[in-house]
Amino acid sequence: MKKTCIECKQELPETSFHRSADGRMHPKCKTCRSSYERKRRKKKKDSRLDAIEQDAVDVFCKAARLGGSTIPHSAELIEVLLEYFGGVRGFGNVFMKQYYDSPPGGAHRTKMLETLVRLVNANTAMGGAKKPLSVWTEDELEEELRQRLMETAITLKALPVSRAVEVLSETAPAEDPGPS
Ligand SMILES: [Zn+2]
Repeated sequence: MKKTCIECKQELPETSFHRSADGRMHPKCKTCRSSYERKRRKKKKDSRLDAIEQDAVDVFCKAARLGGSTIPHSAELIEVLLEYFGGVRGFGNVFMKQYYDSPPGGAHRTKMLETLVRLVNANTAMGGAKKPLSVWTEDELEEELRQRLMETAITLKALPVSRAVEVLSETAPAEDPGPS
């Protein structure tokens, strides 16, 4: 016995069709059915990713504004761009969408991973990986403030450079002797 698939219109042996529990044959052949399932799964995944992108665009439109600083400061530019992407998390979402949209093992994914590694390296080199302020000790905080104050004093010429260097080279504030 042969049966014609409603999708590809081919006349195929009955073994090319799935059977349901009650013995009825599926109207589509196994090949057509699995390709349909595959497409359906991909569409579902795409629509989820599209929703993420749509969210990012919405944030962009809501935040779109005129003006700003006349100095194209790179940090400010990055901040504004990240705002349009929905902050760092939003940017992460867009990055991951792009990543998953690219074929696994392909040049795109490799390039994205390389970019990420370079970014982490550059950030660490610039001191961006320092421990967060909230876990600094009192002494570290004091030392940092002292350094910055001196740098500011030099910048504002409120203190002669020679004197500032002297102050900076002095030993860090004496340690708290604690209760005696
Ligand atoms: Zn078929």
